[in-house]
Order: sequence, then structure tokens, then C-alpha cells
Amino acid sequence: MRAGKAVGAWRITATVTGKHRLLLLLGALLLLGFLATTLVSYFVSKNQIHRSIVENELPLTSDNIYSEIQKDLIRPVFIASMMAGDTFLRDWVLQGEADVPAMTKYLGEVRTRYGTFTSFFVSERTRRYYHPEGMLRKVSENEPQDRWFFRVRGLNEPYEINVDTDTRSRETLAVFINYRVYDYAGGLMGVTGVGLTVDMVRNLLSGYQKRYHRSVYFVDKTGQIVLFGDRPSHGAANLNDVPGMRNIVPRMLATEGGDGSYAYSNGGHDYLLNVRYVPEMKWFLVVEKVEDEALADIRRTLYINLVVCLTVTLAVLYLSHLTLGRYQRRLEAMATTDRLTGLLNRHAFEILMVQALADARRSRQPMCALLIDIDHFKALNDRYGHLAGDRMIEHVGALIRSSLRASDVACRWGGEEFLLLLKNCADADALVLADALRVRISESALPLAERPVARTVSIGVAAWRAGDTPETLMDRADGALYAAKREGRDRVVLA
Ligand code: GH3
Ligand code: MG
Ligand code: MG
Repeated sequence: MRAGKAVGAWRITATVTGKHRLLLLLGALLLLGFLATTLVSYFVSKNQIHRSIVENELPLTSDNIYSEIQKDLIRPVFIASMMAGDTFLRDWVLQGEADVPAMTKYLGEVRTRYGTFTSFFVSERTRRYYHPEGMLRKVSENEPQDRWFFRVRGLNEPYEINVDTDTRSRETLAVFINYRVYDYAGGLMGVTGVGLTVDMVRNLLSGYQKRYHRSVYFVDKTGQIVLFGDRPSHGAANLNDVPGMRNIVPRMLATEGGDGSYAYSNGGHDYLLNVRYVPEMKWFLVVEKVEDEALADIRRTLYINLVVCLTVTLAVLYLSHLTLGRYQRRLEAMATTDRLTGLLNRHAFEILMVQALADARRSRQPMCALLIDIDHFKALNDRYGHLAGDRMIEHVGALIRSSLRASDVACRWGGEEFLLLLKNCADADALVLADALRVRISESALPLAERPVARTVSIGVAAWRAGDTPETLMDRADGALYAAKREGRDRVVLA
């Protein structure tokens, strides 16, 4: 079998590229198939998630937040509107603003009752600023902090919402609802309203933000961010300063028909947002979500799938490699060995012989060929039958194999003939070796059903000479064998 391996190695080179090409094709097909299904399902899921965010999630949270805002922020507008229409307030002004404590009490009641941060009234006629703690001072056109009053005086709408510092405690930022008050004839009597601290509003927005896991903020018509819970992730104060947003801002902030869903990219992230105009505040409510966060789960699934694909492909390739290798080796063994004796067959041997001769030529080392033929084999066949003949061939084959040196090569040359190639072996040594083999064979009888049967062999030895081809070497061995037969068999003859 050692010789079989040598022939195997020689033959494998011819099939190796075919096998690798097959494995490569198999791997490519598997990977392609896996990748296609994985990527298609990833993109389908991604689209579904995108659609569900844009069509359901964002509008729904926007609706929810809007209705909460109505509760929490628009209520003060109603309070201010109620104050502006209050007959007590109007009558009190018409009666000359005489009873200051009555006004203070009224404003205090409003503040306590509705839990606002402050409440106020500024008279058009006297320019006095009233609030729950009393009459503060007079507003003046030259005071920057009073500018809001003169702005509201010129307003076409009944009210405005304004973020400003409080007149009384300058460090508190507050959201004011400034409502115009008219007398019964429709003349402007002053401005009233309530204020909420910005912190209060921010906490409110922060609460929405935490509850719904998205940024919530208000912008005015110019894109300026007027109120937010936690600073929006883009970090800009005006939407026009957000690089990816610049081209959608004009559409978003169109009072008519600007409501809806928008998408933009900034800093490597994709954002989805929903915009809604809140007419009571004249601001836009923006609910924004980073799409990447929503996709993190399916992206993780994608990576896991890719690793699984790769692992399965590699496993299949490895198993195919092993299986193909095993079949290849078995086929090669079948193609190169003789079934009966396990020695090389003649075809494989001829290939090896060409190599062995080339080696001998190059190394100039002696080499001998032994041709072995069983004596009177026909008689054995005739007497004990063909199967017994086969067993004798097996038997002799096994004896030859067990006598080989590591460098020797043996084959079943045909019928009951064997051929040995003894490398690095001079003719004298070859004769000794051949004779020892002859004696071994003749002394070991084959145990047949009836009784042990012994057979002798004749051996022709030919030493390799420079210029020998396989044919000339074989011819000489054949001649020597013929001589051995002629001289009476059971002997070794050197050509
Ligand atoms: P000799 O001493 O001159 O060699 O006499 P022999 O009878 O051995 O003559 P020869 O070598 O010419 O005979 C070979 C015979 O071996 C012929 C054939 O019937 C028989 N034979 C060839 N191959 C097989 C085989 O595979 N199995 C069996 N059982 N017999 C075979
Ligand atoms: Mg013969
Ligand atoms: Mg014979």
C-alpha cells in the first residue's frame, strides 16, 4: 500500500484543481444563496420598520404628545382668555383701577387655583403692572423688559405666547400667555395672562421624551428652537443650522400643510421626524427619532445571520472536502491496486517504473528487476479448481509483500506473475534476496481444505544498465525467468 500511496500522490495532482474548483463553486453558491436570503429579509424588515415609524409610531406619539400639550400648555391659554373676558376685571378697570387689593386678590386667586407660576394685568390707560403681590410699577416704552407689552398692543391676534424672563424675578425664564383685554365697546384696555416657568414646561417635555423614547421640541416660524425637554441630539439652536435639515425646513415650517413626516441624515445617523403646527402656540411641535436605534435589533440579527451563513458554508465546505478526499483516495486505490493481492497493478507499476528508471539514471545507483512466476500453476488450477488457484496467488502475494524493503516496489504483473523493483540494490544482493524469497515461498504451504499445498517459484533477475528502457529491462528479466524454467524451475537466474 506504501507504493499505492506514491502512485496516489502522483495522480492526485491531476484531480486537485477539479476538486478545488468544485469546492469553490459549492462555497460560492452557498454563500450567494445565504447572502441573498439574509440581505433580502434584512431590507424587507428595515423597510417595514421604517414604514411603521413614519406611518404609525411618530404620528401616534405626536398625537399623544399634542393632546397632553393641550392639557398642559394650552390650558393656560384658556385661563388667560377667560381672564381677558372676565367682567370683574373689565369693570374694575372701567371704575378707575381704584381698589388695588381687589385686583391683587383676583390675580392671586387665578394663580393658586390653576397652579401657574404667575398671573398679571397691565393697564393700557395707567400702564400699571399688577400681579398677585400688588401693584409693581409702571411699564415704559423705553424699558427693554417691557417691550413685550407694546408688541402685544400692536398685535392683530388676540394673544401671543412668549418665552421671557419674569418682570419680578429677573433670573426666572417663563412662558407667558399675553392676552389682549377689550372694553365693552371694543377698545383695548390692557393685557392680562399667566406665566409658567420654563423649567416646568421643560420637565413636561422631558417626561414625554422619556416616555416615548424620542426628542420632543418646539420651533417657531423661523426654525428657532424655542422649547425643549432635553437638548435635541443635533445640538443646534436653529433648525436651519442642522446640515441635513436645511432643505426640508422651508417645507416643514409652512404653516399650511407643513404637518407630516420628514427624514434627514446628519452626522452619519438617519433621523425620522413628525411635524405638527400648534395654532394655539403658533409653534411647531417636532417629534424626532433616530432611525438607527430602531434598527439596532435587526442589524444585530443581520450580523448573527451572516456569521451563521459563514459558519454553515465553511462547515459544508470542510465536510465536502473530507468526503471528496475520501472518495478520491478510494477511487485512486481502486485504480492502482490489484484486488486479489493488494499489490500495485500493472498500470500503476508502469508509471512508477518510468520514475524509478529516471531516478536510477540521475543518481547512478544500481537497481534490479525481479520477475517471479509460480511453477506448474496450471496443474494446481486443474487439480484444485480456479478458486484454490486464486488463493495461491493471494498467498504468494502476501509473502512477497512481507519481504519487501521500504524502497522496493512490487506489483502483480499478470496471472500468477509478480514483478519487483529493488532500488539501490546491486545484482549480487538482488540474487541473495531473490533466493531467500524463493526459499520462503517454497517452504510455506497454502492450507487448502484437504491438505497443505506447496508451490515453488522461478525468478528471473535483471540488473539495470545505463540506457535501459522499461521494455529492455523487462525483456532481460523475462529471458532470465525463461532460463530458470528451462533449467528445471524452483531457482533464480540472473540475466
Ligand atoms: P510454468 O511452471 O511453466 O509457469 O507452468 P504454468 O502451469 O504455471 O504455466 P503458465 O505460467 O503459462 O500458466 C499460467 C496459468 O495461470 C494459465 C491460467 O489458467 C492461470 N491463471 C492466470 N491467471 C489466473 C488467475 O487469476 N487465477 C487463477 N486461478 N488462475 C490463473
Ligand atoms: Mg505464467
Ligand atoms: Mg507459471
